[in-house]
Amino acid sequence: TPTLPVFSLAGRTAIVTGGAQGIGEAIVAALRDSGARVFICDINPDVGKATAERLGVDFIAADVTDSAAVEAAFDHVVATAGRIDIAVNNAGIVHNHPSESLTDHDWRKVLAVNLDGVFHCCRAAGSRMLAQGGGSIVNTGSMSGHISNFPQPQAAYNAAKAGVIHLTKSLAGEWAGRGVRVNSVSPGYVGTELTQRGMDNEEWRRAWLAGTPMKRVATPAEIAPAVVFLASDAASFCTGTDLVVDGGYTIW
Ligand code: NAD
Repeated sequence: TPTLPVFSLAGRTAIVTGGAQGIGEAIVAALRDSGARVFICDINPDVGKATAERLGVDFIAADVTDSAAVEAAFDHVVATAGRIDIAVNNAGIVHNHPSESLTDHDWRKVLAVNLDGVFHCCRAAGSRMLAQGGGSIVNTGSMSGHISNFPQPQAAYNAAKAGVIHLTKSLAGEWAGRGVRVNSVSPGYVGTELTQRGMDNEEWRRAWLAGTPMKRVATPAEIAPAVVFLASDAASFCTGTDLVVDGGYTIW
């Protein structure tokens, strides 16, 4: 099938954190289908290995909150494939709890995965890409980095995602002159395990769909092409941008 050559990822090596399932899994499949050699990096080895086998890609177990484990994962990619061209920093968790009684532990856990984890991966990717003369980093933000969701309480998640979007811009500025682009993709509601609890709650589901002009949630496969675009040479003049893919949620 013909593809505009700038969208091709042939010969590129990619790592996708949180690639075992959900949005990450769809990103892994899309990068692979565009020609990249892909490594799934995930905290869950059971699901991760099964997904990797099914998709014909490699698997590395790592917890993104552990910066030494992240460095080891990136070392493994470079040792195996010779280089790292694309890093999709996608691992994330959500915790819904009213802020007036949110514990230090739960606040820290969400920030540790969703913001510290993205920084650990950006640093690991950026240092190696700068040394080799180029690369593309795509972080998974969220519409929650732009708006505060309703009706579920999730201040730590929203703050972390706003942090991811601004971290992305900050790193883009530091590395723009040296061949490394850093962008983010911010999904609206997507049907994955992360949103299942909300979709099972009649009040939440109704509010989520009412707030989404398209009146539905996305499939993970509808988010992945935006990541392929930003990872590829088709986005050669994009850096520091946040590509919102939300069925219109943030227009209202
Ligand atoms: P998911 O729960 O289906 O998948 C998340 C994956 O991340 C899992 O495979 C999990 O094992 C992995 N993971 C969790 N903690 C990790 C850690 N510490 N280290 C390594 N891997 C870890 O969720 P999803 O919906 O696919 O979410 C993927 C990303 O998209 C997250 O960053 C999430 O915040 C973001 N997002 C999701 C939605 C949505 O509606 N589903 C909307 C906007 C943004």
